[in-house]
Amino acid sequence: MRVIVIGAGLGGLTLAHGLRRAGIEVAVYERDGVLGRPQGVSLHVDDRGIAALRECLPPAHVAMVEATLGGAREQTLTLSDVEGELAVVAARSSDGMSGRARPGRQAHRPLLRAVLLTGLDDVVRFGAEFRRFEWRADGRVRAFFADGRTDTADVLVGADGVGSAVRRQYLPDVRVADTGRRVMMGATPLGVVAGLGLPGLIGDDPAVARVGGTTMALGVLRFGCRPVVAREKWLPALGSHAVAEIEDYVMWALPVTKERLGSPAEVWRQADEPHPALRSIVAETRQDVTAVLRIGVIPPMPAWPVTPVTVLGDAIHLAPGFGGNLAMRDANRLREALVEADRGRLDLLDAIGAYEDTMRRDSFPTSSAKASA
Ligand SMILES: Cc1cc2nc3c(=O)[nH]c(=O)nc-3n(C[C@H](O)[C@H](O)[C@H](O)COP(=O)(O)OP(=O)(O)OC[C@H]3O[C@@H](n4cnc5c(N)ncnc54)[C@H](O)[C@@H]3O)c2cc1C
Repeated sequence: MRVIVIGAGLGGLTLAHGLRRAGIEVAVYERDGVLGRPQGVSLHVDDRGIAALRECLPPAHVAMVEATLGGAREQTLTLSDVEGELAVVAARSSDGMSGRARPGRQAHRPLLRAVLLTGLDDVVRFGAEFRRFEWRADGRVRAFFADGRTDTADVLVGADGVGSAVRRQYLPDVRVADTGRRVMMGATPLGVVAGLGLPGLIGDDPAVARVGGTTMALGVLRFGCRPVVAREKWLPALGSHAVAEIEDYVMWALPVTKERLGSPAEVWRQADEPHPALRSIVAETRQDVTAVLRIGVIPPMPAWPVTPVTVLGDAIHLAPGFGGNLAMRDANRLREALVEADRGRLDLLDAIGAYEDTMRRDSFPTSSAKASA
């Protein structure tokens, strides 16, 4: 069996590792260059994401990821201004119910992606923008790329994120709604803000500060093991640039509307009654990792006819707080299905159909709110 994956994001790369380890030929086509574009600073990784990584990645990659996660996050704190000081005024357990986060740990997103890319040099083709596909008479699928390249395989997987070109052609009725909301995300070195008391106040838990009219999400990432040390121990093949100059930091995220975009300083000037500690965090942010991310919505889709083209992750369902975990879980489930077909234990279309049924059931908002496993 040969599989083409469009998109070298969290889901596409997890799938590529899983298929390769199962001896299935896979090629990943990625629109961006090797460095990619800023995709956010950190990621709350829960049991779904970790389980998928353990199933799909080589053991040394898993060890590298796990060694560099932050501490356990069991609850989400609410911070407010109490007589001029930031204080914890509420704590909500992370139980995964009603859209709440599940327990997990914080990962440095660029590092996770670099680990996922390690060892896939011969699999990932960068600068290859997918344009369209065609069915062939023999049941296989041919993919066409912007630079004139084509490739043919038994299965085509759209892991190409919210703007998925695979989904646009394959499921043209799916509409992605832009909510108009944006989140500006940045990272401020812990050493710079240690004197503010905030890192001690929130520990490893995610926190939401509500001060005056401003709402800001915060999370302290204290690497379990310094990435540079973990690389040496677990994954020397990981490029040294991926671990250079990474230090513990405070991740901050500020909701903004598309009308109120600008540099962090400009956005912050428009914030209502900013607290001095929050202002310092934004003022000292690392400009190079600051990113503005778009919040979209995809309404749940009824089942579609099964073919050798399928989709995973943000290409078909969106969940800004945990969509990466869902993308990695999809990747693992699709890997399982394709391995069953490759070994002749299931018909290919039955395997893809079973994957899609489970994916739809567990990943669209109404069912994910019930915290499916
Ligand atoms: C503000 C914010 C915070 C978030 N926080 C979290 C969190 O804490 N935890 C969590 O689990 N999730 C979080 N998410 C969600 C998470 O970022 C996504 O769900 C996740 O990245 C989806 O992975 P994916 O592999 O489906 O797509 P992506 O990671 O988006 O990867 C898609 C890839 O496809 C490539 N591509 C696109 N079009 C083409 C094309 N035509 N040809 C070739 N390649 C193409 C892209 O360049 C990209 O590399 C957050 C999202 C937002 C907006």
